Formats: sequence, structure tokens, C-alpha cells
Amino acid sequence: MGAMNVCSCGWTIVSPLGAEDCVKHTMIHLRDSHPGTIITHDEILAHTKPV
Ligand SMILES: [Zn+2]
Repeated sequence: MGAMNVCSCGWTIVSPLGAEDCVKHTMIHLRDSHPGTIITHDEILAHTKPV
């Protein structure tokens, strides 16, 4: 099952590989676009939705 995540800035990740891949890409996005954001792996996972 794939997964998706939408950032508060409108950036969206859709991964066919699942939630863990989605979280990985979201953390990269946060690091690149929102440096200083403090969010844990589990918090991102909680925002990730199955597609
Ligand atoms: Zn963003």
C-alpha cells in the first residue's frame, strides 16, 4: 500500500512504497525547506495517510 503526506506549505509526497518511505522524504523536505522544524519520525507518521 502506498502512502501520502501533505506539508503545511502545500508540498505533497505520494510514495508507492509505503509510509516509511513517505516519512523519509518528508524529513528531507523539512530539512531543506523548513530548517529548524522540530518534529519526530512518529509525528510525521501520524500525519501520513494510506493511498
Ligand atoms: Zn513544507
